[in-house]
Amino acid sequence: MFIDAHNHLDFYGNNLSYVLDMIRENSIKTLACSMDEASYLFTRELSKENEYIIPCFGIHPWKAYENHKELDRFDEYIRESRVIGEIGLDYYWVLEKERYPYMVKVFKYFLAKAGEYNKLTNIHTKGAEIEILEFLRKYSLRNPIIHWYSGPMDVFRKLLDYGCYFTISVDIESSELTKEIVEALPLDRILTETDGPNALEWVNGKYGYPVEVKNIVKQISLIKGIHYDEVKDEILNNFNIIMDDY
Ligand SMILES: [Zn+2]
Repeated sequence: MFIDAHNHLDFYGNNLSYVLDMIRENSIKTLACSMDEASYLFTRELSKENEYIIPCFGIHPWKAYENHKELDRFDEYIRESRVIGEIGLDYYWVLEKERYPYMVKVFKYFLAKAGEYNKLTNIHTKGAEIEILEFLRKYSLRNPIIHWYSGPMDVFRKLLDYGCYFTISVDIESSELTKEIVEALPLDRILTETDGPNALEWVNGKYGYPVEVKNIVKQISLIKGIHYDEVKDEILNNFNIIMDDY
């Protein structure tokens, strides 16, 4: 079994049925993150037909502004989700600074609920890495999954010390920072992800499919000098450990 611990199944459009078959045929356990309510309801339906899909409810930081007024409506979705995501902060791609207080408000709401209901979290940290670390400490969340980390290495080490798991993404062959992170990450904290079809497109122009996780496992094994099967098994083991806790 492979692990795709951060994907967006509602981004595949006409390729979706092909992707769902691929997930099953290649045994790719998938955390299907949501952007907002509609995105979550879509993936929740998919999960009824495909046992490899775990739907995750969250409001993405890019969607926080549109959703900050009606947060209490989301309580039921949070309670039924094993993992809360995608949530987080983004001070890099979100350019409208006047929206930042709403982004923080939404993130804090989800962190508080994740603590209250003892949920695993799947977190976007772009440009807000140090603030995320402070929030995790404040809300005492266990085993957060940090999605596609690209911040400073000193904050990475603090997040690691805190107990975070890290998903290694599709830029592993092209990003020196991602390679450095893989080198520094103990094997028992590594997960893999593909982040939807557009992530790989953003990296090298190729449409991203979930089977890309196999290449990520291969690249991790090359960087760390550990056999492919051992890396694959360890990632599955890591995933099972954190999921069993919740
Ligand atoms: Zn994402």
